[in-house]
Amino acid sequence: MLNALTRKSQLDHMSKFEYDLLIIGGGITGAGIALDASKRGLNVALVEMQDFSQGTSSRSTKLIHGGLRYLKQMQVNVVKETGRERAIVYENGPHVTTPEWMLLPFHKGGTFGEFTTSLGLKVYDSLAGVDKNERRNMLTKKEVIERVPNIKTDGLKGGGHYVEYKTDDARLTIEVMKKAAAYGADAVNYVKADGFLYENGIVTGISAKDMLSGDVYQIKSKAVVNASGPWVDEVRGNDVAAKQQTKKHLVHTKGVHIVFKQEDFPLTQAVYFDTKDDGRMIFAIPRAGKTYVGTTDTFYGEDKSNPTAEAEDKAYLIDAINFMFPTLNADVSMIESSWAGIRPLIQSSGSKNASDISRKDEIWHSTSGLITIAGGKLTGYRHMAEEIVDDVADYLKKHFKMNVKKVSTIDEPVSGGDVGGSVGYQNYVENISRKAPSYGLTLEEGFHLAMKYGSNVETVYQYAGITNDNHEKYELPKLLYAEVIYGMLHEMVIKPSDFFVRRSGKLYFEINDVLNYRKGVEQLLQDTLSYDDNARQQYAEELDAAIQDTKR
Ligand code: FAD
Repeated sequence: MLNALTRKSQLDHMSKFEYDLLIIGGGITGAGIALDASKRGLNVALVEMQDFSQGTSSRSTKLIHGGLRYLKQMQVNVVKETGRERAIVYENGPHVTTPEWMLLPFHKGGTFGEFTTSLGLKVYDSLAGVDKNERRNMLTKKEVIERVPNIKTDGLKGGGHYVEYKTDDARLTIEVMKKAAAYGADAVNYVKADGFLYENGIVTGISAKDMLSGDVYQIKSKAVVNASGPWVDEVRGNDVAAKQQTKKHLVHTKGVHIVFKQEDFPLTQAVYFDTKDDGRMIFAIPRAGKTYVGTTDTFYGEDKSNPTAEAEDKAYLIDAINFMFPTLNADVSMIESSWAGIRPLIQSSGSKNASDISRKDEIWHSTSGLITIAGGKLTGYRHMAEEIVDDVADYLKKHFKMNVKKVSTIDEPVSGGDVGGSVGYQNYVENISRKAPSYGLTLEEGFHLAMKYGSNVETVYQYAGITNDNHEKYELPKLLYAEVIYGMLHEMVIKPSDFFVRRSGKLYFEINDVLNYRKGVEQLLQDTLSYDDNARQQYAEELDAAIQDTKR
């Protein structure tokens, strides 16, 4: 279990054990590898130097998407694979992934014309094996305007209507991590791998620092995978062999999203649209009573832990919005919050524009045994994990004569995903919501929790049911109190920002909850996890900084 209360004893245990596989990095890539490997029966450890998903995996466009952009580049196999994976991710976790009809408008002189949109989406449907009821349809100009009344009508010819999948990237990551933990993986947040252990030049584990206490541990493992996303080169830099062999490197680009209140940017239909004049396309997506827009794609060389939306990023997106939604007269003062993420991309020669660099993933092997995964997308995490664990299995066979059987994760629900698949999900939610009143919650609250936690919801209900009015002591609604307790005991929530930013997404989409309830949550976390006032003060300042960053 990802239990914050037993984190310290878990770390002590980890330093006394030899694992089959140790993973550096707790983003979606590391989580996916942990799940695949632990399901194969391997003893797995995972360390994450920040909070789970705090790197790129909480800062994406939050789409499990097919490869429309790859179709444009004629990468037929990539389209097929992302289409297939998209359906698998949805089926295994309908509570974290929802279909979202996307509108692709076409204007005179735009990226896509009527013919190319119609044909492209049709080819896409067939390559990606899209379900009959989710296949594209073409809209007339009038139908486009009906759906998006504030869209640019000048030169508008019509639109393509097709399905993408919306996700909560941070929650998808934690649900995959929880499933890996259910299979026995030991995963801890706030633990940094800051060196390797060797025997005869072969990596046999890591030296790790607990970023909360400063304690240093040695964790031994037969195989070590570097899944540190944008930090892949830094981690390889600690391995002498990988450093010497390195031919390829990462290059980083930043992607920014901005969030509006629906009053300021009314939108009920997601739109994928052309920017003004650089040939890029961006998304505007309605979510939780807000509209978010992104992304940018610019080279980035600064602090990877804390990318923020700068004035020029916002200006670019505002320009794009005003180009496609001219009646909005959007300006930066309307931006309610924002986030920025760093793409870890593999450097390729001749790419002058950030957007031209391939989004492909690659696996690099060092003679020290270190296996590094570079690049990749949220969407393809499951398949990517399978490939890496295949390599790990080969390594364990060659060096330790271990026979690791391949198992499929295609039908493996993520944690909370035992809801009868995509078909049974709505029924499941409706039925289970009816139980909420017996725990002192309203039907509506029960519904909200069931949508978010899927088949784990009854555990959350139970925490609501046994508060003994404790929530009143912290001046928290019962629902929020139960979520924080669940977060601590099942999702390793330690700091207020773990909860407000990554487990609930409230920082971006429900900022008033953060402002109204942060004191109660800070107190509840401190009381339950018994940290001192200095730590509480530091974590409160980190939340202050996160709030400021979204408003910069
Ligand atoms: P990360 O999530 O960054 O995880 C790596 C982790 O390693 C980090 O949490 C870091 O703290 C940790 N780490 C680093 N060094 C150490 C160390 N020494 N010890 C311990 N831990 C360490 N993909 C999609 O499929 N759909 C999208 O809509 C989409 N949109 C995107 C939009 C943007 C703006 C960006 C930037 C990316 C987007 N992507 C999208 C891509 C996707 O988000 C990333 O490919 C994916 O999240 C990468 O996951 P990861 O686990 O490899 O890296």
